[in-house]
Amino acid sequence: MPDHILLLAGTFEARQIAERLAAMRPGVRVTASFAGAVNDLPDLGVPTRVGGFGGPDGLGAYLKEEAVSLLIDATHPFAARMSRNAAAAAEATGVRLLRLERSPWRPEAGDNWQHFPTLDAAACALPPAARVFLSIGRKEVGQFTQRSDLFALARMIEPPGVVLPDHWRLILARPAQAAADEIELLETHRISHLVTKNSGGARSFAKIEAARQLNLPVFMIDRPHLPPADTVDSLSALLHRLQPYFVGSA
Ligand code: NAP
Repeated sequence: MPDHILLLAGTFEARQIAERLAAMRPGVRVTASFAGAVNDLPDLGVPTRVGGFGGPDGLGAYLKEEAVSLLIDATHPFAARMSRNAAAAAEATGVRLLRLERSPWRPEAGDNWQHFPTLDAAACALPPAARVFLSIGRKEVGQFTQRSDLFALARMIEPPGVVLPDHWRLILARPAQAAADEIELLETHRISHLVTKNSGGARSFAKIEAARQLNLPVFMIDRPHLPPADTVDSLSALLHRLQPYFVGSA
C-alpha cells in the first residue's frame, strides 16, 4: 500500500479519484494539490495544498520530504507544464507516476473542424469579421483581442485578466450541459465559428454537439505533447491499475 499518494488536481476526475480512494481504503494518506488558479476550489475530502511546487526540482523535493510513493497526475490535458514537471520529478526521484488523461474529442463525418497547435494560430486564421464563440480560459482570451474585426462571445469561469473590447460579450459561467442551451447561445449571438481546446470529456461536450448540429466550423486547438508516462483514460481504469497496491491493505 502506498504510504502517501500525491494527487495533482484541478479536474472533475481528480475529485472523483479523491472520493474513490478514500472510500476504497479509508486509511490511505492522500494529499490533493491545486495550482490555485480559481477561487472556488472544491472540497475533495482529503488534505489539500494550494500553489505551485517551484518547478520539477521543487516537486521532487516535496515528493522526498513528504515520503510520497505514488504520484497521480489528474490535471487538465492542457496543463502541460505541470504534467511535464510531474514526469521529470518522478523520473528524478523514482516515485511511480500514474497519469489520468481523458480521451480527446474526435470529429465525426460531416464535422467541419480545423486543427491548430495554438490559440494564437487559430486567432490568426479566423476569417475577417468572424463572430466567434471563445470557449477558452481567462488567461488565454487576450490572444484574440488583437483582432479588432472580430465579435467574440467569451465564456470563462472567472473574469479575464485583460480588458475585453466593448462590443464583445463576456459570460462568466461553467459550460452548459445541454446541447440545446448551447445552440440557443450560438444562435442568439449569430456565432459563425467555435474556438475551443480539445479538452475531451462529457462535461463540456455540449458546445461541440451544438456546433455539429448547426454545422458551424470548429477551430480545434490540439493537445500539447506530453512526455510518456503510465497513462489511463478513465477513473475505472485508474482504480483497476491501483488494485495491486491495495491488496491485503484493507
Ligand atoms: P500549467 O500551465 O501546466 O501549470 C503552471 C504551473 O502551475 C505549474 O508549473 C505549477 O507550478 C502550477 N500547477 C499547475 N497545476 C498544479 C497543481 N495541480 N498543483 C500544484 N501546482 C500546480 O497549468 P495551467 O494550465 O495553468 O492549469 C492550472 C490548473 O488548472 C491545473 O491544475 C489544471 O488541472 C487546471 N485546469 C487547467 C485547464 C487548462 O485548460 N489549462 C482547464 C481546467 C483546469 P510549479 O512549476 O511552481 O510547480
